[in-house]
Amino acid sequence: MTDERVNLLDFDRQGLTDYMVSLGEKPYRARQLLQWIYQRGVTAFDDMTDLSKVSRAKLAEQTVISLPEVALEQVSSDGTVKWLFRMHDGNSIETVYIPEAERGTLCVSSQVGCALDCSFCATGRQGFNRNLTTGEIIVQVFMAVNRLAVLPKCQDQRVTNVVMMGMGEPLANLGALVPSLNLMMDDLAYGLSKRRVTVSTSGIVPAMDRLTDRVDVSLAVSLHAPNDALRDQLVPINIKYPISELMAACQRYVSGDRKKHVLFEYVMLQGVNDLPEHAHELVGLLRDFPAKVNLIPFNPFPQSGYKRSSNNAIRRFSTILTDAGVLTLRRTTRGDDIDAACGQLAGDIEDKSRRHVRFIEPRFGEQL
Ligand code: SAH
Ligand code: SF4
Repeated sequence: MTDERVNLLDFDRQGLTDYMVSLGEKPYRARQLLQWIYQRGVTAFDDMTDLSKVSRAKLAEQTVISLPEVALEQVSSDGTVKWLFRMHDGNSIETVYIPEAERGTLCVSSQVGCALDCSFCATGRQGFNRNLTTGEIIVQVFMAVNRLAVLPKCQDQRVTNVVMMGMGEPLANLGALVPSLNLMMDDLAYGLSKRRVTVSTSGIVPAMDRLTDRVDVSLAVSLHAPNDALRDQLVPINIKYPISELMAACQRYVSGDRKKHVLFEYVMLQGVNDLPEHAHELVGLLRDFPAKVNLIPFNPFPQSGYKRSSNNAIRRFSTILTDAGVLTLRRTTRGDDIDAACGQLAGDIEDKSRRHVRFIEPRFGEQL
């Protein structure tokens, strides 16, 4: 039976305030609720001691704080943690925590599957099933924070950064994404700074502008190729929004703020996009732009048809960029023993009506 009650995790501060007022409650109840849920991890209304008995009863009757089932929780030898969360409709999604010396990054999913069908991505291979709700996005942070606090050997680990680099294309789900980003950055919830919350997109140009209009976060763009002919093959949304339009959108994102930059992700595929000529072409594209390039060694999955570039090829590529003054990072592979790396995430899709849509018109509609 489906639960008709309202999920309180679906609201950011403004939404929750409006909702509480609609229940006949005082607006400040929203502040109390946010702190109970996100800062103290409390989900039982009876434990929320500064709410009146009447308010608690009303909330219990009309609302829920909907948590997924932990279908899988794996801790890698390097401390990376991967969760598979099963939601109420039986679909499951992955969330990954990556500890580093100075920070702890949580990689969060935005959709069940993905419609964009990039040729090197396991999530794309799986097809698209549905968008996540705001509650299903933010609950991944909630679950990670609360599970890390009780997992042996993880108690000192903190979520200091969130990257929307799990399953799905976040900008194809902007309506649900934005309130979840607001919660990540709200001082009454997780209080992360905008530099520590990153949205990664394959380049849905109109949605990039809409994102910037609505919320100020860091932007990562999955470039993966320095020219349209190659990018059309790897990232098919490029056929609709080619590199020139993508770069113009990046320019609009950074314009007027000298501190802003775009992180360009570039997956290293042996013999496909990792040759010196590709590096030189990339320099031409990014030279005058406030860019950081993140070279990601390809993470293989069965029947992908691609191979990871050799360390030498990655080093050669990186040197060409760096020598030309393009800031370049090389992502180290983490969580190898538990398949927790980028592009390897593929939850279980329950609804078999999943579909592949190669050149979709992202279904903005009412989402925006
Ligand atoms: N849909 C968004 C965010 C999720 S994917 C996007 O495409 O940006 C997060 C990152 O992982 C993207 O840069 C994506 O291109 C990359 N990725 C996908 N499959 C990969 C693989 N098999 N190996 C390495 N990186 C991969
Ligand atoms: Fe979707 Fe991103 Fe995978 Fe492309 S790389 S299929 S946009 S999740």
